Amino acid sequence: MEQFEESIYRLIVETSTNLPGDVRRAIRAAREAEDRATRAGLSLSTIASNITMAECNVSPICQDTGMPTFYLHVPVGANQIVMKEKIRSAIARATKDGKLRTNSVDSLTGANSGDNLGPGTPVIHFEQWERDDIEVRLILKGGGCENKNIQYSLPCELEGLGKAGRDLDGIRKCILHAVYQAQGQGCSAGFIGVGIGGDRTTGYELAKQQLFRRVDDVNPVPELRRLEEYIMEAANQLGIGTMGFGGNVTLLGCKIGAINRLPASFFVSVAYNCWAFRRQGVLLDGGSGEIKEWLYPRGDEVPMDEAPAAEAAQPADAEPRREIRLKTPLTEEQVRSLRVGDIVILDGEIHTGRDALHKYLVDHDSPVDLNGGVIYHCGPVMLKDEKGEWHVKAAGPTTSAREEPYQADIIRKFGVRAVIGKGGMGRKTLEALKECGAVYLNAVGGAAQYYAECIKRVNGVHFLEFGIPEAMWHLEAEGFAAIVTMDAHGNSLHADVERDSLAKLEQFKEPVFK
Ligand code: SF4
Repeated sequence: MEQFEESIYRLIVETSTNLPGDVRRAIRAAREAEDRATRAGLSLSTIASNITMAECNVSPICQDTGMPTFYLHVPVGANQIVMKEKIRSAIARATKDGKLRTNSVDSLTGANSGDNLGPGTPVIHFEQWERDDIEVRLILKGGGCENKNIQYSLPCELEGLGKAGRDLDGIRKCILHAVYQAQGQGCSAGFIGVGIGGDRTTGYELAKQQLFRRVDDVNPVPELRRLEEYIMEAANQLGIGTMGFGGNVTLLGCKIGAINRLPASFFVSVAYNCWAFRRQGVLLDGGSGEIKEWLYPRGDEVPMDEAPAAEAAQPADAEPRREIRLKTPLTEEQVRSLRVGDIVILDGEIHTGRDALHKYLVDHDSPVDLNGGVIYHCGPVMLKDEKGEWHVKAAGPTTSAREEPYQADIIRKFGVRAVIGKGGMGRKTLEALKECGAVYLNAVGGAAQYYAECIKRVNGVHFLEFGIPEAMWHLEAEGFAAIVTMDAHGNSLHADVERDSLAKLEQFKEPVFK
């Protein structure tokens, strides 16, 4: 077993940096279904570029490298204690090498362990089997999409769909509702795993396990196969689109499993995974621990190369699209001239800020002048070189909705002119944008390599004690492209898409599976 730890390390690096072939094919199909000149089409171009950049740089596809979750099948009598230790050691090494973000946080103190190890991290499941080989599967599922997981207890009443009963049709409604409620916040277009039955814990477990199925496999249970096909068809009529920008493709895959339940309980559990669907597996030699086989066709077999969104050609018949280049700090006049749909290309200093910083700024002063400034909702992967200088390894946007309780106050208090994030924000923030003259810019969620390339220098950092992802990084950007989705005139693309998709959801109210 001398090769076991090295094989696990290779599995982690491959999973974090290179999407498998079946996932790439699904994303390519989505690109073909969207007009290149639309917001969704542009985002998919950025996503495609990002996938290639991550593969070439051997760097994380998305800065949120998620909760490392392993499923192992081991021969009878294999030493699981030793394997666990070696997995933990491979995780710590991958974190030190910048292949994983420091993602393990003490739930009470907020302290980041710094090496992705801690109570409950990583997650490791063992199962015995009657074979000599060892099978290891790994999924890296980020927090943005994990937060959009949802569990229904039937019967229930669903927004837009009415009553969902304890039958196949009730299950159908729950799954459609799960896609609707995620909107673009889980970095759509996404993949869903669905678990029918079990208790609250095993239902979610089953849902997550469905994500290990190949995107192109066929469910052996006829009713579930029919339901999977139906959901793919119906969910893609909701018009949510990539990043919730509107569009033809909202769902890239749907896999459903069922287990027995208690007579009194009927749970439908849905695990939502973003387009950055990072899961891979290996079959290891039971004696040496060497890799014998990769379980999902390697990503390099399906090239993704395309120009990034801001550089994509605009067809002659497309609606005019404004591209505006701005340098920070921004003026009120510049910002008030922006409209939903404009593409802004930013140069100059921007400041990262997530949950810990927003909470802090509400009651304290900022260590830097934020007047006219830009806050970027981002928890980057950073590495320090031998000279003590910091470098950005991955830097895509995080879900902005978490900052909704704080954002309006911070815009008013510090004169912030732009907030960059993903998934949009709520009514309180929209009102503050209008009142103060500020905008919300939606970057493409998960495009961590694309945005890291736009950061030319790290100017400084405050609050490293919050942990690397939560610290306030002062970054010099050049050519940072994002789309105005909430402007200073009270317009919100997110509110529009949510309203339209609810109207479309209502069309699926009538029973389909009797
Ligand atoms: S792509 Fe989006 S949802 Fe997925 S891990 Fe990255 S930030 Fe989170």
